Amino acid sequence: MTLELHNTLTGSKDPFEPLQDGHVGMYTCGPTVWNYAHVGNLRAFLFYDLLRRQLQADGYRVTHVMNLTDIDDRILDQAMHAGTTIVEYVKPYVEAFFEDMRSLRALPADHYPKATEHIPDMVAMIGTLLERGFAYEADGDVYFRIESFPRYGMLSHLDRSGLRPGMRVATDKYDKESVSDFALWKKAHPDDEKLGAAWDAPFGRGRPGWHIECSAMAKRYLGDTFDIHGGGVDLMFPHHENEIAQSEAANGKPLARVWLHSEHLAEAGGEKMSKSAGGFTTLRDLVAAGHDPLAVRFFLIANAHYRSRLRLTSEALHASAEQVRRLRDFAARVRRMDPGTQEDQELIGRIAKVRAAYKEALDDDLNLPQGVGQVFELVREANAAMDDSRVGEHGRRALAELIEEVDRHLDVMGGEEPGLAEEVERLIAEREAARSAKDFIRADLIREELKQRGIALEDSRDGVRWRRVTRERGM
Ligand code: AMP
Ligand code: ZN
Repeated sequence: MTLELHNTLTGSKDPFEPLQDGHVGMYTCGPTVWNYAHVGNLRAFLFYDLLRRQLQADGYRVTHVMNLTDIDDRILDQAMHAGTTIVEYVKPYVEAFFEDMRSLRALPADHYPKATEHIPDMVAMIGTLLERGFAYEADGDVYFRIESFPRYGMLSHLDRSGLRPGMRVATDKYDKESVSDFALWKKAHPDDEKLGAAWDAPFGRGRPGWHIECSAMAKRYLGDTFDIHGGGVDLMFPHHENEIAQSEAANGKPLARVWLHSEHLAEAGGEKMSKSAGGFTTLRDLVAAGHDPLAVRFFLIANAHYRSRLRLTSEALHASAEQVRRLRDFAARVRRMDPGTQEDQELIGRIAKVRAAYKEALDDDLNLPQGVGQVFELVREANAAMDDSRVGEHGRRALAELIEEVDRHLDVMGGEEPGLAEEVERLIAEREAARSAKDFIRADLIREELKQRGIALEDSRDGVRWRRVTRERGM
């Protein structure tokens, strides 16, 4: 099977075909850096990462562009309160975003264009829209005239009867009731000058609206038409609808061929996680509460299909941590095992089957949860086979290849176990305390637990040292 993706434009799962043989151009809406990204935002960003990884696994070269919105209403407000410029205000949040992406092992995009560094591209596009009659000026602002674009609403399958021509909204974010002309350019307010948020343009000094930035930067890095545009489902209307209107009106060509939207992450109570609503959780919060970023990664990509809602609960995070641990233990065991002389042919057949099923699940609109489910079944079977020494060189190699393939998406099995050193040190301290209290049974239990995890303890004059050891067979 070849890759099929659920395209919001067509409303169906369609076989994916890129414009250019072997290459995929993809634009995804990145963070508005007015604050730390919350775990809901990170779900969207890890969905982009999963998509990129699957395209690469299917043999495509990918050019991935993810913008940073470093100017919008909220950033202006916050910079104003902080008494600084917008560029200074967003700096720590931009850094924090990249840090989060690294801890979650998201592959870096090829370009991270910032809106404030692409103002001339936006001014040029707005100029074209004015020239062609798709936009008009009103009191120093410039608006897109949605009446001039009959396809407006095609992405979100909007009922155009609710359309109120001539109604205008100037805010960057607005709700479903506001099917209205939207701002492309906003006249400079005296405060904007102090904030470093005003630029010259033929239609007057001002700043861009939110939507035009993506149209202008997508064109700059990917051309008029590209393969995939992605974002969270809340961006479908109005943001993506507006992007389509601006780009297609200005360029006279379709914008993206495939539109993908990932579902929300909800709070434990069920409500959508949102920064504006106040209650939100960041990766930093979770790490401070003792969660491992890789468990968070696994939870966000492997617990639910990207088009299903997902709820953030601490039980779900703990379950994900446990699954990551099982996978890592399994991978380590396969790496260290000495192949036996027996070879279980049935197991080898199963490995090939699971490999095919895993690929098929991912090609089916990125169904990672389904693929991972199959892998866990196999992990159980293969562990039992290793217990009985039924895995020879052939079997070991097949398992290693499967692990490598699965980790192309999951990326949780390679590298040093995060937090391992701290965990071992904690157990060693606990064992020392038990020994001082003459609780030798407890002390031995801890030593045994560490041994099970491939860690050996050595009592030395300088205290207790630990090292990794090859696991004994049959463990
Ligand atoms: P923003 O920083 O608000 O521009 O959003 C960045 C990305 O996060 C967009 O793709 C949003 O659709 C997505 N997003 C925002 N809130 C959530 C949420 N609760 N769950 C999943 N994705 C979200
Ligand atoms: Zn966008």
